[in-house]
Amino acid sequence: MLPAPALAAFRAALGADRVFDEAAACEAYACDETPRRVVPDAVLFPASHADVAALARVAFEHRVALTPRGAGSGNVGGALPSPGSVVVSFECMRRVLEFDPANRLIVVEPGVVTDEIDRIARSAGLFYPPDPGSSAYCRIGGNLAMNAGGPRAVKYGVTRDYVLGLRAVTGRGEEIRTGCRTTKGVTGYDLTRLLVGSGGTLALITEATLKLLPAPEAVATLRLCFASNRDALDAVSRVMRQAVVPSALEFMDRRAIDAIRPTGAADDLPPGTRALLMVEADGAPEDLPRQIAALEQALAGAGLLETKSGFARDDIARLWTARRSLSHAVKRIAPLKINEDIVVPVSQLAEFVDFIDHMADTHRLAVVSFGHAGNGNLHVNLMVHPDDADEMERAHLALDAILLRALALGGTLSGEHGIGTEKRRFIDREIEPATLELMRAIKRQFDPHGLMNPGKLFPD
Ligand SMILES: Cc1cc2nc3c(=O)[nH]c(=O)nc-3n(C[C@H](O)[C@H](O)[C@H](O)COP(=O)(O)OP(=O)(O)OC[C@H]3O[C@@H](n4cnc5c(N)ncnc54)[C@H](O)[C@@H]3O)c2cc1C
Repeated sequence: MLPAPALAAFRAALGADRVFDEAAACEAYACDETPRRVVPDAVLFPASHADVAALARVAFEHRVALTPRGAGSGNVGGALPSPGSVVVSFECMRRVLEFDPANRLIVVEPGVVTDEIDRIARSAGLFYPPDPGSSAYCRIGGNLAMNAGGPRAVKYGVTRDYVLGLRAVTGRGEEIRTGCRTTKGVTGYDLTRLLVGSGGTLALITEATLKLLPAPEAVATLRLCFASNRDALDAVSRVMRQAVVPSALEFMDRRAIDAIRPTGAADDLPPGTRALLMVEADGAPEDLPRQIAALEQALAGAGLLETKSGFARDDIARLWTARRSLSHAVKRIAPLKINEDIVVPVSQLAEFVDFIDHMADTHRLAVVSFGHAGNGNLHVNLMVHPDDADEMERAHLALDAILLRALALGGTLSGEHGIGTEKRRFIDREIEPATLELMRAIKRQFDPHGLMNPGKLFPD
C-alpha cells in the first residue's frame, strides 16, 4: 500500500481527482499485452508538464517508484507495474501543442495517439512515417519510450529518426529539454537519442517535437506467393541488395498465412503457397512503374508461384488489415504467445528461419514467424499452453537456442518492442559487461533512487 503521506502529497500536487487508489481503478492498469498482472498501489493522471514535474518531485521525496504508461499495448511488460509502484498514465495529456507545416514539424504531448499525428500531418500534404501495427490506439509516449517501428521502417526508419527534441522530467524531478527544432543540430550530447528507446527507465517524456515528411503522392502494392520460406527470404535479400527501396516488405510463413484466412485475405492464394511477401513502393505516380519493375525483377526467382499487382484500394486495405490482425490472430493456435522480436542481417534471414523451423520440429512446437523482413526484423511467436510444463520447458530450450543463433548471425534481441521485463534476462548475452555498467551509471545519474520504471531493461 502506498504510505498515506505519499498519497496525500500526490493529491496535493495534482488535485484529488487525478489520483486514484481504489481497487477497481488500480486493477484496470495492472497489465499490458503480456499475460502477467501486477496491480499498482495507485494511478496518477497528470494533465500537463507541470503536473508531471510535481508528481516526480513527490515520488523523489517519498521514494515512490513510478511506472509510466501509454496505451498499454507493449509486448514486453514495459508498462507492467513493478510491485509497490504507482502508474503514471499519460492518457489525459493529449494536446497537439503546435503544428508547423512550414518547418515540417509537430509538437505533441505523450498521450496523443500515433495515427492522430499522421492524420494532422496529411491535412497539410505531410506525413508521419512511423507506423506500428497498433498505431490506431498506441500513444506517442509509448512509441518514444520503445522506439517503435512498423512496415514503413524499411524505407523511412523508426520513431527515433523523427524526433527533433523532447521535454522530460528525470527521476530526480528535474525538468529537462533535449534536441532542437531544426533538422540539423550538434549542440551538446544527443540526449534525445538516449531517451528514445529507454523504456521509461530514465525520465518521463512530457513533450515531443517530431519531424514530418512530404506525403508520398502514390503507393503501389504487390503480393507474392512462394513455395517455401527460403524462396521468399532469398527474394527479400535480392530486393534489399538493389537500388529501389520498397516502402514496405513484409513476410508471412505458412502458419501466419493460415492465421489470416478468417479475414478472407488469403482466399485466392495459389495451391502450394507456403510463404508470402507484401511489398509496397511509394513516390510520384510517374515513377511508380519504374520502381515496381525493378522490385519485380529482383523478387523473381526460385519458388515464386505468383505475383499479384493492380490491387483495388479496398483489397489493399483488406491485406493490411489482415497483416495487422496477425498479432492477435495467432492466439487462436494456443493460449500463450511467447513473442520475440528478433532482427538479423537481411542476408541471413533465410538461414535464420530455417533454424527456427528446425527448432520447432526438434522441440515439437508451433512457431509462427512473420514481420518486417526488409529490416531483417522477425516476430517469432512460440505458441504454447502454459499449464503444459513439458511444452513450456521445450519452448524455453528452443527460445534460448533461437536467440543465441540470432546473435551469432550478427543480429539483435529486439528490433522494436524493447526489453521491458520479458527480455531482460537475455540482455547480457548481447551487451558486454562494461557497456552494461555504463548504462547502469547513466541510469543512476538520471534516477539515483531507481524510481523510474524499476525492474525493466536491466537483468537482476
Ligand atoms: C497488435 C499490436 C501490434 C503491434 N505492432 C507493433 C509494431 O508494428 N511496431 C512496434 O514497434 N510495436 C508494435 N506493437 C507494440 C506496442 O504497440 C508498441 O511498443 C508501442 O510503442 C507501445 O505504445 P503504448 O502507448 O501502448 O505504450 P505502453 O505499452 O503503455 O508503454 C510502453 C513503454 O513506454 C513507457 N512509456 C509510456 N509513456 C511514456 C512516457 N510519456 N515517458 C516515458 N516512458 C513512457 C512505458 O513505461 C513502457 O515501458 C504492437 C502491439 C500490438 C498489441
